[in-house]
Amino acid sequence: MSGKRIIKCPNCGTFNTNKEYCTNCNTLISHQKKQEIKAEAGKQKRIEKAIYEKENPNLVERLKKHPFFLYRIVGWIFHSAITVVSTIGAGLAWFIAMVAAG
Ligand SMILES: [Zn+2]
Repeated sequence: MSGKRIIKCPNCGTFNTNKEYCTNCNTLISHQKKQEIKAEAGKQKRIEKAIYEKENPNLVERLKKHPFFLYRIVGWIFHSAITVVSTIGAGLAWFIAMVAAG
């Protein structure tokens, strides 16, 4: 048997021996358990984020990592096209701004 850990409940003041939850009011009193729950929640959040990103990459990123090289090429073409289009778009916006300014 490990040593007794007596924790006073911060909620109702009941002394609990080797308990994670207060025997009187059911408040979580184990500091270790609190840390565990917190760590677990953080881990769960990271896993969910990783899964979400894995399941929802944008099409270009997906194509760039495709096992079939032709799809990867298409991915890079899209990537270049998007870069060019956004550059032209920025240039066009600048041009319109200049014309509007007279
Ligand atoms: Zn209590």
